[in-house]
Amino acid sequence: MDLTDTPDEAAFRAEARAWLRANVPARPLPSGDTRDGFARHLDWERRLFDARWAAVSWPVPYGGREASLWEWLIFEEEYYAAGAPQRVTQNGIFLLAPTLFEFGTQEQQDRLLPRIAAARDLWCQGWSEPEAGSDLAGIKSWAVRDEAAGGWLLNGQKTWTTRGAFCTHLFGLFRTDPGLQRHAGLTYFLVPLDTPGVTVRGFGRLDGDEGFAEVFFSDAFLPDSADAILGGVGDGWRVAMATTGSERGLTLRSPGRFLAAADRLVALARSAPATGRLRERVIRAWIGARAYQLFTARQVSEMLAGSGPGARSSLNKLFWSELDIELHETALELLGPAAELDTPWSRGFLFALSGPIYAGTNEIQRNIVAERVLGLPRA
Ligand SMILES: Cc1cc2nc3c(=O)[nH]c(=O)nc-3n(C[C@H](O)[C@H](O)[C@H](O)COP(=O)(O)OP(=O)(O)OC[C@H]3O[C@@H](n4cnc5c(N)ncnc54)[C@H](O)[C@@H]3O)c2cc1C
Repeated sequence: MDLTDTPDEAAFRAEARAWLRANVPARPLPSGDTRDGFARHLDWERRLFDARWAAVSWPVPYGGREASLWEWLIFEEEYYAAGAPQRVTQNGIFLLAPTLFEFGTQEQQDRLLPRIAAARDLWCQGWSEPEAGSDLAGIKSWAVRDEAAGGWLLNGQKTWTTRGAFCTHLFGLFRTDPGLQRHAGLTYFLVPLDTPGVTVRGFGRLDGDEGFAEVFFSDAFLPDSADAILGGVGDGWRVAMATTGSERGLTLRSPGRFLAAADRLVALARSAPATGRLRERVIRAWIGARAYQLFTARQVSEMLAGSGPGARSSLNKLFWSELDIELHETALELLGPAAELDTPWSRGFLFALSGPIYAGTNEIQRNIVAERVLGLPRA
């Protein structure tokens, strides 16, 4: 396989690099998981959109450039190498949008995708509930059909909703057939958070940012005219699995993020020379980032040949979440006592620790790999 850029890809890379060099804020923005930081990030997201870099692989009418998957990977590499801000639109652009492309009607795509790309609609993810995290099929929130009024009444509670307090919309799973259990009878709803009966309560994370929310539904009415169901009624599990595939796999965490972190780690090791075991850790982390790049290159080739990653996206998730911890732990070791200070490395380390939990815990991913990739018997 030839991984060097074609002339067109090289031109695309050069254009992306030049734009990022000219536009990435010179000083890092405050965390996008704070109210002020989120607003500052939205300005950035809109600049990206105006220059058609917000969603490069999307069709031109939706604000994209119809870039190939390879070009998207190139953009991601350049984006992270330039130290550009975190993407606070990630749930809309990287999780909901691929699901809309797969399951949305033409009308839904035309209506929603341009607003997602332009950071006008800001989406959060409503899967987890107080008694259903790993066991997503155990959710209890429900939606009841109101035939007379022509719509659905939503009730229940979601939790751990990332940036929910700052978002405008939520995509989430609700039980629509109380006669069915577990994976059956679930429906995927698209909910404006200003719907009467929806209450969003933000709360702080351990690192202090108000990055989470609980979302309560109390007879929140969604009229049929809102066209708020993605996929069919009762088809929610299948649609949700497409979203989780994007979250675990390539779209949420492309290799560019880790390649850039590995390069920064090597630069740190040069400035604070590492010896012995520590030197080996630096090298191992750098090789890990390159290995993830090659793994995803293979995955993209397979996708272009028509075979999606399916359950193998759990392998991505295991790989990137453990690599992220390894990269940050090694950096903290290199920093020595300075690791105690509030630095991008120490903040990144705290967030990396949550990697094995969000997007489905790594224990669950190992079960999926064992059963569905390797064909081992259920534990
Ligand atoms: C930073 C962050 C952001 C998040 N953002 C969102 C969001 O935007 N939207 C959203 O809906 N959720 C979000 N979550 C929630 C996340 O999806 C859940 O925390 C996760 O699915 C685990 O669920 P739980 O916390 O209820 O833990 P539990 O499911 O109670 O699990 C507790 C422990 O038991 C283990 N365990 C459970 N079942 C098994 C099993 N069958 N086999 C082996 N081990 C098992 C788990 O691996 C874990 O270690 C976020 C979480 C974090 C940390």
